[in-house]
Amino acid sequence: MMKSLRRSAASILVTLLVGLPATRASDDGAVPWKAGAATVKITPERPLILLGYTDRNGPFDGVSDDISARALALEDAQGRRGVIVAADLVGFQAAIVTDVVAGRIAERTGVPRDRLIFNASHTHTGPVVSLDPNTTLNVAHPAMTLEVAEATITYTRRLQDQLVDLVGRAVADLRPARLSWATGRTNVPTSRRLPKPEGVVMLPNPNAPVDDAVPVLRVDSPEGEPRAVVFGCSCHAVAAGGQNAISADYPGYARAVIEAHRPGATALFLAGCGGDANPEPRGTIEQARTHGEALGREVCRVLDGPLAPVAGPLRVASAQVDLPLQVLSREQIQGYLNRPNFQAWQARHMLEVLDAGGRLPSHYAAPVAVWRFGDDLTLAALPGEPVAGYATLLREALGPDRLWVSGYNNDCFGYLPTAKVVAEGGHEAIGVTLWAWSRGLGPMVGFFEPRVQDVVVDAVRRLAAEAEGRR
Ligand SMILES: [Zn+2]
Repeated sequence: MMKSLRRSAASILVTLLVGLPATRASDDGAVPWKAGAATVKITPERPLILLGYTDRNGPFDGVSDDISARALALEDAQGRRGVIVAADLVGFQAAIVTDVVAGRIAERTGVPRDRLIFNASHTHTGPVVSLDPNTTLNVAHPAMTLEVAEATITYTRRLQDQLVDLVGRAVADLRPARLSWATGRTNVPTSRRLPKPEGVVMLPNPNAPVDDAVPVLRVDSPEGEPRAVVFGCSCHAVAAGGQNAISADYPGYARAVIEAHRPGATALFLAGCGGDANPEPRGTIEQARTHGEALGREVCRVLDGPLAPVAGPLRVASAQVDLPLQVLSREQIQGYLNRPNFQAWQARHMLEVLDAGGRLPSHYAAPVAVWRFGDDLTLAALPGEPVAGYATLLREALGPDRLWVSGYNNDCFGYLPTAKVVAEGGHEAIGVTLWAWSRGLGPMVGFFEPRVQDVVVDAVRRLAAEAEGRR
């Protein structure tokens, strides 16, 4: 408070002396921001189970490339801060980043929970992250042992410490900066929803839509020296396939290309609406490199081209949004058991809950956030794994320009389907998975209702208006 009072007093003084409006200083885009970046290696020291494929035969047996978490801290001219954390993990469950981590970050840096975004790259060659011994033991992987479950929880606690320290270092690094942005295009994502007579199956479908946008935020010193690059791609990080060695997958290779192109910059990858998209072809670490380098080259092309300046202020709004789940009878759930996809697997879990005398939930509360960078850029941070349709829907709702739609933020509970995907069924219609158990909410499992789409789009629209109205 003292700081901002002093700052506004100083700007009034400058205005009186120079006779210019107080906003004049921010016209060139150089003055309004401060930015700081930090990186930490999060490769596990002990072998853990890698999440994403259940047919691996044990804990990881090697490291193709290290995984990391990166943070970008921003501060606008009014001293309001926001921090984006991007990590090579399958997902951030709310239980990992709310409460303890966010509370400790707020204590150390003054950045409150609603000004933190935790984005996971969704690499399937990253470790299981969990604080709940039961969930870890029972759900994650058939090869999970008590010993590995304990190592998982030790790793997760250490990860929490690392995240608190990472954000602290990024905030301590805040220095004057200039922000600009532009969007590129990529053909890394290919839809994996192929309609067959028996239903939608998970196979490449080049004819179905994907979100091919590559949003790029460039952060430079006032003199133009590289500080950070934030970039996005809407595609599963599964190019390395089911290999049992740690890798950041294609986002890591893309970051390496960008950091070599702009020495001194920290590159952050934000996963987008890639719930229903895979890189093709895929299955080897070489293919992860090929896709990553192609994406990295596109980001470099965008960085070298004309970018639009991004001014402040940084206004944010966020809410826990009740995402509606279908309320189904036992007979209706049984109807899913012969589906040719993971909906059958999910239905079995739902029946297990009923058999144990439990009740199935009618909604799942998930965090949705909108960050507005003045009038220049809006970042919609969706939770879960949004399918490509959300990028289209939100461009229709908020306007196609100056919009960055990201997914895999703050709570990864499973896929976030559109009404169309719910109606068609298939892998991305499996709803909330058992992972959400670790939030201590009991058996959280169920298929989303079609109207989940309207609930999400309305929430983003409302939050964007709310953020705009904030001073
Ligand atoms: Zn996924």
